[in-house]
Amino acid sequence: MDIQKTHNIGTLGPSMKGQKVTVAGWVEDLRELGKLTFLTLRDVTGVSQIVVAGPDNLAQVKDLTRQSVVRILGTVQESKARDFTFEIKADTIDVLSRAVHPLPIDPLGRLESGIDNRLNARALDLRNQKTAAIFKLRHNTLLCIRKTLTDLGFLEVNTPKIIGSASEGGANLFSLKYFDKQAYLAQSPQLYKEQLTLGLERIFEISSFYRAEKSHTVRHLTEFTSIDIEAAFMDYTDVMQILESLVVNVFEYVEKNCISEQKSLGIEIKKPKAPFDRVTYTQAIEELGKQGLELQFGDDLLDSHLRKLGELHPGFYFLTDWPLKLKPFYIHEKDDPSLSKSFDLQYGYLELSSGGRRLHDPQKIRARLVEQGLNPAQFEDHLRAFDWGMPPHSGWGLGLDRLMAVLTQIDNVREVVLYPRDPERLFP
Ligand code: ATP
Ligand code: MN
Repeated sequence: MDIQKTHNIGTLGPSMKGQKVTVAGWVEDLRELGKLTFLTLRDVTGVSQIVVAGPDNLAQVKDLTRQSVVRILGTVQESKARDFTFEIKADTIDVLSRAVHPLPIDPLGRLESGIDNRLNARALDLRNQKTAAIFKLRHNTLLCIRKTLTDLGFLEVNTPKIIGSASEGGANLFSLKYFDKQAYLAQSPQLYKEQLTLGLERIFEISSFYRAEKSHTVRHLTEFTSIDIEAAFMDYTDVMQILESLVVNVFEYVEKNCISEQKSLGIEIKKPKAPFDRVTYTQAIEELGKQGLELQFGDDLLDSHLRKLGELHPGFYFLTDWPLKLKPFYIHEKDDPSLSKSFDLQYGYLELSSGGRRLHDPQKIRARLVEQGLNPAQFEDHLRAFDWGMPPHSGWGLGLDRLMAVLTQIDNVREVVLYPRDPERLFP
């Protein structure tokens, strides 16, 4: 039995009246009307009405279950149906695969299923046009990110995810047996991407990273996708500029190129206004103080503080110049050494990205490691590279899953990840 199709449904139209086509897809609906049966057939590009007549063909579709896979050789004709501008009169029908009922979820979304049931049947959930739209948006977002960064002279790289030493401290790392050695799953490409600036100047990576955090929130996963850049000869304000224009570009790109996906999701994506507000940490704790949330310089901003700041600054804004002691050992200090050349990109309460200028003097890094209770000896592989002509550099990491949640106006990152991993979920 042949299994190929000549056309995707999305490429058909009423102007092709009289043309023979072979289409294939999933049966969304079946209605018997006297001597005719009307099939609604969907493939990934669109949906069409199929008119079935004649005893042989009617027998083929008689007990056909919804979501079964069929291949239809037929003729395009005008349609009188309200929802269709054309239809296909079936000559031959092949049933390629039968869906076994009851299905675990209603893939059309008419009967709403909870997120857990949907994730347990994720492959089927993708036949829901709302779910499919999320992942088409995600694809287009990645396309635009790769294009934007490439145009800015960044080279895409892949750094290891299996690492031999607990690079940034050790908390939150998944460990695994690597033959007879101890290994870990990378929680970020931080050290590698910094090293790469001395050979390649501007690099980016898009990859999964792993955090062994028992967080039960709508913004944390144990496996998440990060977009990371690192650039030689740039200060933190330069890479903030890149991040801002990247976010604006993505919104503009999907606003223009993903019309039907926005319709499926019932949302309107609008390019955000730039420049984004820039709020220093010191200004932020002053603003919070006025709201009755007293903080001392050096206190970290907790969820409750970020929620309040999010109310004061809806949309995108940068939180900059954090106290140095709140930042990792590789972050560069400002002229006032209690402050750091660092920033977070926020969307309301939600942190989307962290970045900053990095130290490039290995003596300073060693001192900071000691200050933070880390052992410089464990970083010697990394620090060696700083004697080979390490340029001053800056970078950031942007959580793709959180960005997609903002873009799709969905709260839970699990919705925008195909097979999310969290402390409770390891299957499917
Ligand atoms: P948070 O404080 O929200 O847990 P973080 O400050 O620990 O985040 P970073 O180490 O700064 O995270 O990582 C850079 C970006 O990667 C974050 O701003 C976020 O967008 C994303 N990210 C980090 N951890 C996770 C996670 N567990 N799940 C989803 N995205 C994450
Ligand atoms: Mn952060």
